[in-house]
Amino acid sequence: MCGIVGYIGMKDAFPILIKGLKRLEYRGYDSAGVALLNSEGELNVYKSKGKVKNLEEYCIGKDVSGTIGIAHTRWATHGEPNDLNAHPHYSQSENIALIHNGIIENYLAIKKMLVREGYTFKSDTDTEVLVQAIEYIKKRYDLTLSEAVQRTLKFVIGAYAIGVIEKNKPDCLVAARKGSPLIVGIGEGEFFLGSDATPIIEYTSNVIYLNDEEVVLLQRNKKPVVKTLKDEDVHHDIIKIKLQLEDIEKGGYPHFMLKEIFEQSKSLAMCMNGRLNTELMEIKLSGITTNIERFRSAKRIIITACGTSWHAALIGKYLFEEFCKIPVDVEVASEFRYRSPVIHSDDILIPISQSGETADTLAAMELAKSHGAFIYGICNVVGSSIARGTDSGTYTHAGPEIGVASTKAFTTQVTVLIMMALQIGRELKTLPEARYKKIVRELANINTKIEECFELSKEIRKISSVFTYARNFMYLGRGYNFPVALEGALKLKEISYIHAEGYPAAEMKHGPIALIDEEMPVVVVSPKLKTYEKIVSNVQEIKARKGKIIAIVTKGDVDIKKMADFCIEIPDTEECLTPLLTVIPLQFLSYYIATVKGRNVDQPRNLAKSVTVE
Ligand code: GLU
Repeated sequence: MCGIVGYIGMKDAFPILIKGLKRLEYRGYDSAGVALLNSEGELNVYKSKGKVKNLEEYCIGKDVSGTIGIAHTRWATHGEPNDLNAHPHYSQSENIALIHNGIIENYLAIKKMLVREGYTFKSDTDTEVLVQAIEYIKKRYDLTLSEAVQRTLKFVIGAYAIGVIEKNKPDCLVAARKGSPLIVGIGEGEFFLGSDATPIIEYTSNVIYLNDEEVVLLQRNKKPVVKTLKDEDVHHDIIKIKLQLEDIEKGGYPHFMLKEIFEQSKSLAMCMNGRLNTELMEIKLSGITTNIERFRSAKRIIITACGTSWHAALIGKYLFEEFCKIPVDVEVASEFRYRSPVIHSDDILIPISQSGETADTLAAMELAKSHGAFIYGICNVVGSSIARGTDSGTYTHAGPEIGVASTKAFTTQVTVLIMMALQIGRELKTLPEARYKKIVRELANINTKIEECFELSKEIRKISSVFTYARNFMYLGRGYNFPVALEGALKLKEISYIHAEGYPAAEMKHGPIALIDEEMPVVVVSPKLKTYEKIVSNVQEIKARKGKIIAIVTKGDVDIKKMADFCIEIPDTEECLTPLLTVIPLQFLSYYIATVKGRNVDQPRNLAKSVTVE
């Protein structure tokens, strides 16, 4: 959450910063702002509530010159989204400007101390306290900007990625991080800062990833100077990133979300590439191959995640228990980290996070690590904090996901879990060879079936227009498709703002059935599985109460088709692979309902991607 961008070089900084903000806007869009040093050494800060385009309009006619600058797009944590709380924040003397992603937890204590020293505050943010503290320390100890940043951060509790510049110091951009992501792009005598690589790749593919509690000083035509808060020198190897510009553009689609739904066959192909050998019909994930003994001796697997990734984790439980006979606990990361969970050194913890920066998942991972558990990560973003903190893991290789509502990240996470469970089950001999082969064969072919599901989009669009009246939705599923029901409900909530609940279908009669009347749309995820007959009864129960049924069924279905108001038919596949197909109509359903209602699908209210705050 919050996107930060920075530039120092020979070019005009403003267009680079604005373009960068637009690329990072998925991380927050409460406000946007920019700080620039012009050739006279003056420090100009412009900021405005709302999207980056508001900022652009606001800047028309203003002095936006300068070859060094920082910029920010905000997802508010402290203080409402307005102009005053927007970043960058000035220090008291307006000599220093700072952008920040994260939360300064002890900001009230620091603020109290600064107020005693005569400092006054314009905003309600934790961030303003940080820039004021830097100025205070700088003056008091007569330090350079990077020294002052270093010293200040020593007594800061919380998470931060920051960029700082100072009036009359045109050759000094200081940045630091702890807990929040920050990448430094290395160009020819110029440098870029970004919360992720998207604002940088247009200019350079050479980057360094800062570690926690490191401060970097960037000066034109000089090497970056990286130091820890304890003043130790740090050397970072330059890493080449593989991201392409077209990966992060809409490519003719009206929204990133729609593009990403349609990209799922390609993402799954990338995810399985080099891992599923179609000649030998076998799966080899290098992380599993090298660590198979850890899985053999594991007494338990704990999967921890948040949001959509948590739904993928729930599917993981069904998979590992069925194929590997290892007990699995699935934990919401924010709960897990603050309980006193019992973790043993022979446990395996699997954190799942698209961005690899999810603050709660990261903290849950660190907790399990401190108890000696083996950590096997599943992330999309290469080089992310979770990816770097694990013992081993598998990247999902979904490609950049920019739409705030996750789609292809989910299906690739499920695919990684399927591949893991198949490989481990085979090695542990808990999965009979014939069954293994059958599922692998089907998985190798799943993309053809996913593409068949894409063809349902027109039909689903029509169905969607019928249900825009609804204020509530219920989603039901069983077995592997119970988590899909949760995911379908979450997608609808996120982008259409319609209240939706997901339930295991049989749980309905323990309460939620009271909600059903002729107004209530119920989405039943009911492909032909071993519990099919049971779900037929559940559908009957809804019908008897006049609920409106939208059913996701296997092609050729007879029983549910007779009762449902709308039937969406998906291709037949192995039970454990059905989530990869059933989720696609649900993604379309939420997308079309939201667009018919005129919602901003890629930037839904109050949300942001990559949840780097607790
Ligand atoms: N805490 C800061 C604010 O509210 C930054 C928020 C963030 O990084 O999401 O302005």
